[in-house]
Amino acid sequence: AAALPRTPASSAGANADRKTQRVRVLVRPRPVDASEVSALTPECPPDARAALTLEPAQKNVNVRVKRDPRHAHGKVDAGEERWAFKFDGVFAPDATQEDVFEGSVPPLLDGVLHGYNGTIFAYGQTGAGKTFTMMGKPGNADPHTRGLAARSITALFRAVESAADAVYTIRMSYLEIYKEQCYDLLSTDAESDGQTASSKRRAKAGNNHGGSDDDEDEPDEIDRAAMERDISSRNRPRSTSKQMLRSSFQFATHAQEGTTLLGLSRRTVRSEEEALTCLFEGDMNRAIASHELNYSSTRSHCIVTLWVERRFSEAESETGIMRERVTSAKLHLVDLAGSERVLKTNSLGSVLQEAKAINKSLSFLEQVVVALGDKRREHIPYRQSLLTHFLQDSLGGNCKSLLIACVWPAVSHAEQTLATLKFATRMMRVKNVPVRNNMGSDLEGPNGAGAKVVQAYKDEIR
Ligand code: ADP
Ligand code: MG
Repeated sequence: AAALPRTPASSAGANADRKTQRVRVLVRPRPVDASEVSALTPECPPDARAALTLEPAQKNVNVRVKRDPRHAHGKVDAGEERWAFKFDGVFAPDATQEDVFEGSVPPLLDGVLHGYNGTIFAYGQTGAGKTFTMMGKPGNADPHTRGLAARSITALFRAVESAADAVYTIRMSYLEIYKEQCYDLLSTDAESDGQTASSKRRAKAGNNHGGSDDDEDEPDEIDRAAMERDISSRNRPRSTSKQMLRSSFQFATHAQEGTTLLGLSRRTVRSEEEALTCLFEGDMNRAIASHELNYSSTRSHCIVTLWVERRFSEAESETGIMRERVTSAKLHLVDLAGSERVLKTNSLGSVLQEAKAINKSLSFLEQVVVALGDKRREHIPYRQSLLTHFLQDSLGGNCKSLLIACVWPAVSHAEQTLATLKFATRMMRVKNVPVRNNMGSDLEGPNGAGAKVVQAYKDEIR
């Protein structure tokens, strides 16, 4: 009972689908540079200090590390350790961004469209490909290198635009956590939580296409460089790190939405293009903040969240009467700080302070993961750090969660790879309880507010 859902569903019917589901874990190796000694067998020389065997078909990763015998703690096989890991999936080193998307996001996205929260974490040492996996190559217009965030947006709008039986509202937030401070990377826009009548109309119109739209044709592939030029040419004041940093952030627990951060901007996005513009704007604000505050983005955590609200009608099982329903769910895409332990290097002054803060926040994440894996533990220390507090629902809560363990399979990074695989294994013991988030009762019933919205929508499409 360590993993009780923290988000009660308002309708009794939702209890029926309350099942635990453990966090799924996939391993993604990045390609090894030509200048490095690969640890991948059979490329690895037999006398190398470490070797890595990837077996994508069996979902296995095997690691062999030779250590100085005096560190071997009297093991029989003095100086050599062999480890065998099994995960939910192992990507090949040449897996494309599309392969990784197809192998990870679709089930979570499907859940989010139907009211189940989803979270994808990218974990691993600096340089292992976390940002590449989640966000793609910043500033690169090549759509092939797009990361999971942009691909999720595209897939989400495709699904929403082809759904004739529901009305969706999609909102986005983009948060950075650095040294236990929050930065709202979408804070410039005056528009916040409230949704205007005209945006509702546009959301409905977006659903009304059914293939034959009379809107101007959108290009199929969105040109990131052009979009960035567009953003800068709009000539609105750019955010500064001061604007992005707000001291008024406060956590709140919402009955249906779970843990939320009050004050964090949520932009309503009505099209794929608008959402991608928002994403790239957040990417740029991330670069601005790290430049102004003089830190490397590998030291911060970044979280893109897509909030999806769905209005639809459903026949009651006993009476057959149509009831209006609203579900609400969020998809978090989390690019974590580098997992390497910096303390052992000769860091000085502020670098050391920074390293300590980052190590602390990742070790708080580890503590939460370890506590959740231990059935006897009742108290889970979520509130020790902003990251674990914000992601409380994603770990041991109401969420379908996935960890992508990014590894750098060069001989010189074998220790970090081993540490990452061990953390990933602990994550597989964390159990969640995803439930459908049904929204408030004022929207329910044949004459509720939700009913009117859906009825109006139906009248429109008839
Ligand atoms: P991290 O965010 O984990 O520190 P990055 O995502 O910044 O690492 O990756 C480090 C470098 O390696 C970047 O230049 C990135 O483009 C490149 N890279 C990472 N993974 C891949 C991959 N699968 N294919 C091609 N290049 C990659
Ligand atoms: Mg990174």
